[in-house]
Amino acid sequence: MNEPITLFRPTVAEDAIVAAGEVLRSGWPGPGPIVERFEREFADFVGAPHAVAVSSGTAALHLAVRLLDIGPGDEVVTSPITFVGANEVILYEGATPVFADVDPDRGTVDVDSVAASIGPRTRALMVTHLSGNPVDLDRLYALADRHGLAVIEDAAHACGSTYRGVRIGGGAGMQAFSFQATKNLTTIDGGMICVRNEADAARARRLRWRGIDQDTWSRSRTSAYRWSYDVVELGHKYAMNDLQAAIGLAHLPLLEAGNARRRQIAARYRSELADVAGLKVVEPPPGCSSATYICPLLAERRDHLVDQLAEAGVGSGVHYRRNDDHAIFGPPRDLPGAETYWTRTLSIPVHLGLTDGDVDQVVQAVRKDA
Ligand SMILES: *Cc1c(COP(=O)(O)O)cnc(C)c1O
Repeated sequence: MNEPITLFRPTVAEDAIVAAGEVLRSGWPGPGPIVERFEREFADFVGAPHAVAVSSGTAALHLAVRLLDIGPGDEVVTSPITFVGANEVILYEGATPVFADVDPDRGTVDVDSVAASIGPRTRALMVTHLSGNPVDLDRLYALADRHGLAVIEDAAHACGSTYRGVRIGGGAGMQAFSFQATKNLTTIDGGMICVRNEADAARARRLRWRGIDQDTWSRSRTSAYRWSYDVVELGHKYAMNDLQAAIGLAHLPLLEAGNARRRQIAARYRSELADVAGLKVVEPPPGCSSATYICPLLAERRDHLVDQLAEAGVGSGVHYRRNDDHAIFGPPRDLPGAETYWTRTLSIPVHLGLTDGDVDQVVQAVRKDA
């Protein structure tokens, strides 16, 4: 048998390893000037006016909820087909997630179902660009504007995705990115929140540093009263450090080429599996390009295919089990689109460690019983 092919395999560029070494020897590997540079370069890349670097994608989502002052009694309309961490942040603030249904062919939230889920307590809409495929943002923001609601986009899969020619992060609302080890742009762990105005950016910077009005690095640059600070609201320990930022800065120029390779692999799966009955490779919506963090198939015999791939030494995964079906969120709602999607979806490897020969092997493994 060939070497097993894993579902994910993070690649750390040689330049990132060199940059990390420099930071470790610099005498200041904590949050500092390299984080500021990473924030500026990332903001320029996605086209956001402000980007605030944090310790994880979950932290970015949590700060988005904090920035909106969402709390007990408030509802957030959200997607059931996402990483459970996205919906946990709503519970962190004592608010209630209200699960809308999804498009059964793509797993992204269905805007009509979002509209039907809005009630008097709704404060925000939270959506996930699942696998990198953008949600229908024009319709979503029109709906949000009509009801005076905020929008939080979970862009953990969508670093480099575009919606009608605009990179995710460059539109309205707030976007949370994850730089966790397997993500398209990795700092091993880390995240970023994109916001539209200076006040939100300043508050996010304070919230990531325990609510302290100035962080240690900023204070070290002013000569007087560098010991003095005030805690103006309850914050968190969510800052990114310079070690992570240096890794991110080294990876950012490689992101587009990496995403192109991921799209190329997904396109091969799409064409080479097109004739397999009961199986479909999920496609990006028209006018959009996907960062292709994962490559989901929809398979009628999903559980059988998982076993078949495992026997051939090919890793696969399910993204995601319906969140409303987890004990902390239940009881499950009646969501036929989510049920159809999650019982059929299966992600196959699309990472940058794959050779063309590995891609052939995955194709063979999927086709075996076809
Ligand atoms: C990875 C991921 C997150 C969380 O990111 P972390 O950096 O691991 O905290 C949130 N949402 C989705 C959809 C993700 O895939």
